[in-house]
Formats: sequence, structure tokens, C-alpha cells
Amino acid sequence: MLVMKYPARRRTDLRWRIAFENSAIGVTMADFTGRFFAANSAFLNILGYTESELYQLTVMDITYEEDRELNLGLIQELMEGKRQHFELEKRYCRKGGGLVWVRTNVALVPGMGGTASFWFAIVEDITPRKEAEEALQVAQAELARMSRLTTMGELAASIAHEVNQPLTAITNNSSACLRLLADHALSPDRLRRVLEEIVADSTRAGRVIARTRSFLKKGPTEKNKLDVNELILEVLALADRELSRNQVLLKCELTKTLPKVLGDRVQLQQVLLNLIINGIEAMTTVTTRPRILCVQSRISELGNVMVAVCDSGTGLGQDADRLFDPFFTTKANGMGMGLSISRSLIEGHGGRLWATPHSPHGAVFYFTLPAESRRDS
Ligand code: ADP
Repeated sequence: MLVMKYPARRRTDLRWRIAFENSAIGVTMADFTGRFFAANSAFLNILGYTESELYQLTVMDITYEEDRELNLGLIQELMEGKRQHFELEKRYCRKGGGLVWVRTNVALVPGMGGTASFWFAIVEDITPRKEAEEALQVAQAELARMSRLTTMGELAASIAHEVNQPLTAITNNSSACLRLLADHALSPDRLRRVLEEIVADSTRAGRVIARTRSFLKKGPTEKNKLDVNELILEVLALADRELSRNQVLLKCELTKTLPKVLGDRVQLQQVLLNLIINGIEAMTTVTTRPRILCVQSRISELGNVMVAVCDSGTGLGQDADRLFDPFFTTKANGMGMGLSISRSLIEGHGGRLWATPHSPHGAVFYFTLPAESRRDS
């Protein structure tokens, strides 16, 4: 039942009160200290409190710790008259434990005829939707990981070669030392030089493995401030051998003063690697002109980060509209998920991914990512 200590009860209030009481959506009121003084049964059901228990509490008491700062900031703006109302999706702590996701719509009702102003909130339980969204995110992350595994499978020969080279060098160096030792011909100077080479080679092999492992890691989306140029160089290191094996000339044109972006390192690496491998694959049949892959970073007209991956391959042809469709592939062993997953990863970062023909040959794939500083404003 909706209990109102104030404002004054008038006849029209009665009609409103009946409406609130029967509303399937939570309705509540709180004074300036945030203490509740009115709530309908839908609101009480969301939280599991009785009326008298609720009136001992304030809005912040039942707001989940991680959501308090944002909530307080909006309340502050409301109090300072910077906004008339606000909408916020946040978590409440239910009586006896457990969290519930709600969408709250809060307005400040000015005082009238001697009554104090108060906060008025409409509260909707959105837990099922949030749970479905989380499940979808987990499924998408798993799909993205599976596609990374496939890409890595394609790169397996390159990676094996990259690790094998330093290992062979280590074996050769160690065998040479053993031979010299047996002949009593190993000077300390020579031994030091060889050991230094062995350390450098094993560090190199270790780095390849670390890069591969971090790329394949399983984990939730993790957004950090990232330098896109750094990401590009890391991915080019992963694809380095694939480029040389396919006799592809790499051009890397990076804008130095690029703003940082807020993103998941592994996901963005995955997008770049997809585009680079696709570019290389689009050039395998090209024999009458140079195979050139150009990776550029720049600042877009809107001040965001823009990356272009351009090739001199076979081009997009008739299929330009279908490239981003799931399972669309023109390759014998293709899965057709790379571009569709890449697009959803970029859109998940608030950016865009698209393709255009490249003149006179090939294709360009562009993506943008919001600059981190612009997100704050
Ligand atoms: P897959 O590589 O497994 O086929 P993708 O989703 O990455 O899956 O690509 C889908 C299709 O888009 C490819 O099969 C190819 O026909 C086309 N495509 C992708 N990148 C390029 C490119 N750089 N040049 C020409 N066609 C491309």
C-alpha cells in the first residue's frame, strides 16, 4: 500500500494513490536526505522489504556499492537544477542478500504550500533482460575466442617456425660449446658470447609464446586505455612470417599523435589480425603486380581513431554487400565468421567497421574507435 506522510492529501491525490498502488511498476518517494517515505507494493516486492523496514533506509543504503558514485552525481545535478530528471540503470541490494537490476526514472518534485520538495522515482525490474544480455555477452565472447583459435590454427605453421628458429640456434650454440669444451678450446670470452646469444634466443621464443598465449586467453571483456599504434605493431609481429612467406610488402603508416582509445586489447588485436590475414589471403593469386599490404592509423574528421587495412588483392567484386554476413565465405576452408565477429567487436567498442574498393586494385577495410578523451565529454 502507498503510504504518504506528505504532501497534503487532496481529492485528486486519492485517484493518483489508487493508480500507484495498483501499478505493476515500482513507485517511491524520498526526502532530501534520500530517506524513503512512500512506496507502492511493486517497489516493496522488488526489494523484499516491508514498508516500515524500507522507511528506516535511504536510497544509498539499498544502492549497490559500485553504482553509488554515478547515482550520487546525478542526484547532485538534480539538486543543482542542472536537470529536471534522470534515468539510470543500476543495482539494488535486496533484503537478505542478492542483487536486482532496475531502471530508475527520478524527478525532483518542488515543494508547494508549505510542503518540502521530494524525489519521486519510477522503478522497473530489468533483471531478466540484464541476465539475458550477460548470457549473450558470454556466448559472443566464446564465439570470438573460437574464431581466434581458428585464426591461430591458420597461423600455426608460422608460429611453430618462429619458435623453432631460436630453438635451433640455441641447440647449435650449445652443441658447439660442448664440442669446444671437450677439446679444451672454450675460452671464457667465447663462452660468454655464446651464452648471451642463447639468452637472447630463448627470450625471443618466450616472447612469441607469450604473444600467442595472451591472444588466445579466455576471459571477459576488459576495457583499458590503449594505444592503437602499439596494438598494430603487436599484431604485425604475430603476422610477420605470414607476410614474408606470402611475399607481401608491408607499408605501415602510423600517425604519431593518436589519441588513446578505451578497449579490450585482445578483441581489437583479433579484429586487426582478421583484416590483415584476409588482406594477405586476397593477394595469394596475384602474380602480375606487387602484393602490398598497407596499415594506416589516423585521426578521423570527428577526432576519433581510424585504422585502414588496404591490400592490392582481388578486390570485393559482387560480394561487397555480403562480406559481413555470418558464414559468408568464398574460401575453400573459410568459416565466414571473421568479418561478422570483427564488426560486432568494433560496434561493441562504439565504433564502425566497413569496406570499400581500393583503386586500382584490392580492398580497404576501415574501422573507427571513439577517442578516450571524447568519451568523457
Ligand atoms: P573467411 O575469411 O573465413 O572467409 P571472413 O568473414 O573474414 O571469413 O571473410 C568473408 C569473405 O569476405 C571472404 O571469404 C572473402 O570473400 C571476403 N573478403 C574478406 N576480406 C577481403 C579482402 N581483403 N579482399 C577481398 N575479399 C575479402
